[in-house]
Amino acid sequence: MATRLDGRQLAARIENRLEAAIAAGLNQANRPPGLAVLRVGDDPASGVYVANKEKACTRVGITNHGAHLAADTPAAEVLATIERLNADPAVDGILLQLPLPAGLDEGPLLAAIDAEKDADGLHTLNLGRLLKGEPGPRSCTPAGVMALLAAAGVEPEGKRAVVVGRSILVGQPMALMLQAANATVTVAHSRSRDLAALTHEADILVVAAGKPDMIGAEHVKAGAVVVDVGIHRRAEGGLCGDVRFAEVEPLASAITPVPGGVGPMTVTMLLVNTVSSWCLRNGMANPLSDLVP
Ligand code: NDP
Repeated sequence: MATRLDGRQLAARIENRLEAAIAAGLNQANRPPGLAVLRVGDDPASGVYVANKEKACTRVGITNHGAHLAADTPAAEVLATIERLNADPAVDGILLQLPLPAGLDEGPLLAAIDAEKDADGLHTLNLGRLLKGEPGPRSCTPAGVMALLAAAGVEPEGKRAVVVGRSILVGQPMALMLQAANATVTVAHSRSRDLAALTHEADILVVAAGKPDMIGAEHVKAGAVVVDVGIHRRAEGGLCGDVRFAEVEPLASAITPVPGGVGPMTVTMLLVNTVSSWCLRNGMANPLSDLVP
């Protein structure tokens, strides 16, 4: 039976470390870390995500500087809000919650976030830093996957890793992080031929295709570590991932459940980026640097 890579448990352990890091640095910094989650409009799913992020901040002692702007806010006003947060010395991390309402172009707004405060790790400069192996905020979901692997004692060095998906949000930074950890990485996408043959090579298989139940026993080598990033609401209720869990679990040596695998880690890595930026901006060593791939 495969080991469950339990994201809830690991996220709770990392939250304890975050709390301790904040307590240890408060004197020197003279203020708690601050995160601003910027929400524009009323997308209902975003409301849930933002509330989860704000609750997580409160649990560990990060001050929430969030703002909620109306759906018809002009781009210039959203930009002015980002610039105000960039200049605010109490704010260490800024996140623009996507999707934005129709009519707002996310590109220039995301680019306007100060790269040092880029809590999502998706700024072009930070993706470049990841590519070059330079320090900086890291993309949260793939960083969370790396933390799950490390906590389970899965060492990527020398392994064959296959990432299904090549989005800027997940697939691309995931492949770079696995490569930086000395895995030999293949990236599969919608134009890849014979996906099962590719994924069958994987010692570590990370699936981020956004297609419910697409990966089954036929795609997985016995003993592989399988990480399912996908998350979908089933029409009949409940959540599922991109992997047919019941079919793959007996084959895998370790596997993430959905929910409770990668999802909780994404929020936690947002907090790690924020506290790491707080340490850097206050001239303190970062006690969480082992979590920054
Ligand atoms: P995108 O839709 O942006 O990217 C999907 C990628 O999968 C694309 O590169 C696409 O290829 C590839 N793909 C699609 N179909 C196939 C296929 N049949 N075979 C091989 N590759 C395929 O999705 P995201 O990367 O943003 O997200 C992926 C999933 O992860 C979603 O379910 C999302 O909800 C979930 N997610 C979960 C998070 C969490 O915290 N748990 C956080 C972020 C995302 P191509 O480039 O050719 O189109």
